[in-house]
Amino acid sequence: MMTTAYLSIGTNIGEREQNLQDAVKLLTAHEAISVTAISSIYETAAVGYTDQADFLNIAVALETELDAYELLAECQKIENDLGRVREFRWGPRIIDLDILLYGQQQYETEKLIIPHPRMYERAFVLVPLEEIMTQNYDMLVGVQKALHALDIEKEGVNLWKKINTVAEFVPFEN
Ligand code: ATP
Ligand code: CA
Ligand code: CA
Repeated sequence: MMTTAYLSIGTNIGEREQNLQDAVKLLTAHEAISVTAISSIYETAAVGYTDQADFLNIAVALETELDAYELLAECQKIENDLGRVREFRWGPRIIDLDILLYGQQQYETEKLIIPHPRMYERAFVLVPLEEIMTQNYDMLVGVQKALHALDIEKEGVNLWKKINTVAEFVPFEN
């Protein structure tokens, strides 16, 4: 069965835009995944552990035949392929792919929690997500309500580069 899922992708080490492009390319290269929408790129100062470089974040929408655990495994494979080294939680990273939503389904296991447990309190996740969430009105309303409860200005989520289409972001792929 085909399911629509949303990911949040972040990076704060090295060639940050290239890291995002590499991650999206690897997603599009997977035969059971098609990336249907991509947000603009937003820049945000690190939260939690703040003594690290600023992050770039995007959200992507995809359609997939993979189940949620297979999609998680693919996200982790892409993190590894791009050279992510796990040092400490919320520390600097080359790339981080989180599953925000997987259809309407909910999961709460040790490996996987969906909706992502911290998404509704993170402006750097919600701002890009709102940009590409069109299909699901109920979830869009939830995202917008959560956004209204946050002070975006204070959260410091800044448009870094406007992106319009997947093809523009990762040319010659599909
Ligand atoms: P945060 O989850 O707060 O954004 P993080 O992304 O830095 O922190 P990681 O070290 O990348 O955390 O991941 C820790 C674990 O989270 C992973 O091993 C994975 O099994 C688990 N996890 C649970 N739910 C999800 C989800 N929806 N998407 C991605 N990973 C998840
Ligand atoms: Ca994360
Ligand atoms: Ca993660």
